[in-house]
Amino acid sequence: MNNNTKYIFVTGGVVSSLGKGIIASSLARLLLSRGYRVTIQKFDPYINVDPGTLNPYEHGECYVTVDGKETDLDLGHYERFTNIRTTEANNVTTGRVYQSVIEKERRGDFLGKTVQIIPHITDELKRFMKKLGQTGDYDFVITEIGGTVGDIESTPFLEAVRQLRWEMGKDAISIHLTYVPYLSAAKELKTKPTQHSVKQLQQMGIQPDILVLRADRDIPAGMRKKVAQFCNVKPEAVIQSIDVPTIYQVPLMMHEQNLDTTVLELFGIKDAPEINLAGWNSFLEKMQSSRKMVKIGLVGKYVELPDAYKSIHESLIQAATYNDRKLDLTFIHSEKLTDENVEEKLKGFDGVIIAPGFGSRGIEGKLVALKWCREHDVPTFGICLGMQCMVIEFARNVLGLSDANSTEMEHGTPHNVIDLMEEQKNVSNMGGTMRLGAYDCQLKPGSKAARAYGSELISERHRHRYEFNGDYRQAFEEAGMKCVGENPLTHLVEVVELPDKKWFVGTQFHPEYQSTVLNPNPLFLSFIKAAIK
Ligand code: GLN
Repeated sequence: MNNNTKYIFVTGGVVSSLGKGIIASSLARLLLSRGYRVTIQKFDPYINVDPGTLNPYEHGECYVTVDGKETDLDLGHYERFTNIRTTEANNVTTGRVYQSVIEKERRGDFLGKTVQIIPHITDELKRFMKKLGQTGDYDFVITEIGGTVGDIESTPFLEAVRQLRWEMGKDAISIHLTYVPYLSAAKELKTKPTQHSVKQLQQMGIQPDILVLRADRDIPAGMRKKVAQFCNVKPEAVIQSIDVPTIYQVPLMMHEQNLDTTVLELFGIKDAPEINLAGWNSFLEKMQSSRKMVKIGLVGKYVELPDAYKSIHESLIQAATYNDRKLDLTFIHSEKLTDENVEEKLKGFDGVIIAPGFGSRGIEGKLVALKWCREHDVPTFGICLGMQCMVIEFARNVLGLSDANSTEMEHGTPHNVIDLMEEQKNVSNMGGTMRLGAYDCQLKPGSKAARAYGSELISERHRHRYEFNGDYRQAFEEAGMKCVGENPLTHLVEVVELPDKKWFVGTQFHPEYQSTVLNPNPLFLSFIKAAIK
């Protein structure tokens, strides 16, 4: 085998939401567990320059990388499965590609040529697709193409993949993920949509090397063989991905069907190191053997859309597993919480999370929940807007500032305990301009947060415009809400705590972005530990 970086392109067909991100992440996990250096990148066909301006109802949570890039939630899966940090280079959209091409056109880089989708947009796509591979840091670059084959907007992406496969020859392969529906009336699984999807891909000049068939039940071997025959794929390269109780089982399901060895063979790699999945397996064993439950309530406004809180949910699953518990998570609609029903809605939870968010919808319900949790000493974790609500609730009900608020919710509030950051005051462009990415945080010795991390200097990721108003700091501290974490340079308050409670902690940062299967986040671990006490 040559030493060139190997490229694996992952596309999807038939329907969206088949779990391409999980398949890409699982393959990355398997290759990493053989000692290879791997990264995953996502190419999204929509025109937004990044998903930062998207409502969670569109594509779920917006994930944030260390370098402050707002990205697709699949990058969260990539990090949780691989333990590898992604950056701006790992998520590219049509909008970003066009923006870059148009900037070049304005500079005159195209020397009078007509600028066209082919070759200019596809060349730019190819440049972005090769970027991480050219650093020399990776043996394998897995590229997930968002959307579904046949979408008009993903056509240039597939054309770029076709060209790259041709140029790279044996250094590039293609994996296509499709859906095999079960028709209950006929009591049969159906492969026709898969055949059509592969045909469509072939029409674009891409012959898949591996097919991953998603189904809700076992696909008989004969049926998989038939698919292989119809689609010009080797029978052993038709792999099924059936529904499993946890996404963290998918790497093992793929390994059992030799996805990793099939990939290595396609690249002509004969001397691959043995796989070592010890850490992964022990996490899964813990997950399967824990019987006792930990009941957590998550108060937020996107309850009908669990993907909006993807990273928090996964962080809780990881933390529960490491605490030998099964997570029982209930989403509680913040807009429906009132002083009258809060007891009935929140009693029985071992711990409560107050979710991040933007805008005033559902805020009053979050404040009601926080008051009840504080007065009943329920372990409570406020994240970003959740932390800001902790501060507002404390100001109103303990400091007696009944009209305290965030200026995000009420512009002229007389007690702006949460206020727009100075650096945000002149921002008019909404895309990519929040305080984003990883910043250091200095923790007070002895605080719950410092004990959780086992360290006094930490770094976590951010995504916000508003902050704790330092003018009120002394009043809060004297009344019992301690500011136990701050940015060492700007002194911005990052963590608040009520030390006399079992566990009542709010963080301006989002610890959920840095919790992975093999490296669970210390604050989530500590929160769950307090919840099960
Ligand atoms: N809306 C708040 C702010 O911008 C909190 C943001 C968040 O929860 N991510 O500061």
